Amino acid sequence: MAALSTASALLTGITGQDGGYLAEHLLAEGCAVHGLVHEGDAGVADLLRRCPSVVLHQGNLADEASLAAVVAAVEPDEVYNLAGISSVAFSWEQPVVTADVTALGVARLLEQVWQLQERSGKPVRFVQASSAEIFGDAEVAPQDEDTPLRPNSPYGASKAFAHQLVGVYRGRGLHAVSAILYNHESPRRPPTFVTRKITRSAARISRGLEHELVLGNLEARRDWGWAPDYVDAMVRAARHHVAADYVVATGQAHSVRDFVAAAFARAGVDDWAGRVRVDDALVRPADAALQVGNAARAHRELGWQPTVRFEELVGRMVDADLEALPPA
Ligand code: GDP
Repeated sequence: MAALSTASALLTGITGQDGGYLAEHLLAEGCAVHGLVHEGDAGVADLLRRCPSVVLHQGNLADEASLAAVVAAVEPDEVYNLAGISSVAFSWEQPVVTADVTALGVARLLEQVWQLQERSGKPVRFVQASSAEIFGDAEVAPQDEDTPLRPNSPYGASKAFAHQLVGVYRGRGLHAVSAILYNHESPRRPPTFVTRKITRSAARISRGLEHELVLGNLEARRDWGWAPDYVDAMVRAARHHVAADYVVATGQAHSVRDFVAAAFARAGVDDWAGRVRVDDALVRPADAALQVGNAARAHRELGWQPTVRFEELVGRMVDADLEALPPA
């Protein structure tokens, strides 16, 4: 393994929730952190405030020439692919863009990384942020690395292609890891995700700044973990002596309804039922009913464990949203 103090890493999706946590994690190790950003990337200012020493490069997964130029300039020891269309809901509106970025983008990046390894003779480690959505309508719960892929959204299908291509490049000789990440949240999660939408609303409703929270499917069950834990799992997988697929999950599922109840309780609102309305327009064309992961392989081979449980996760997010409000 390369000495950590001299290692360099290239992150796509560096301005997202996971990108920021991963940049902080790698910088704290003494790693040189490079990130791919696209024109008008809204998260750049925030990222540079938290991580002023990251080096940013223009490019995007839909543009092969930009990837070739950045990979050649940085010659990274590790590449983390966190970029992509991150929303299942958006993928129903924009299936072609989703496939181009989230599926084909991984083909473009893997090929550049492979070529770098071929011409430099230096091993490069590649981590794909895969997703529980590759299992879609899984027939078993919990899912593990051997569960058949049954994606049920354009997002899931794109992630499934990327996941399988990582396996193909692994077979070819690249240290290519697919981290099958279940939902992972934090106060940095954008409100397009249900968790942050709920915690922000619960905080605002508790202060009388908002009156109603409108949601879709309350019965969907997800395995929600703490985002920095998932970043830690990706780093461990990158550094492990063999490359493999890893489910990264807590093993505990909760419904959207459970999340709502926990968030309102934390915000001090008892009668939440009258504050929440279901709008069928927010119910998705297809929605995995139960996602829950078995991370036994990550526990065993990577020594990885989730550190934040459900109530604590909800509590941290609600507290951060309460703190961000103007004083009452
Ligand atoms: P995802 O699992 O990556 O799609 O993460 P989300 O946080 O977007 O959605 C998690 C679950 O919450 C899905 O089953 C959604 O159908 C459900 N859900 C219910 N109401 C909403 C809503 O208002 N917004 C979002 N984003 N999801 C919702």
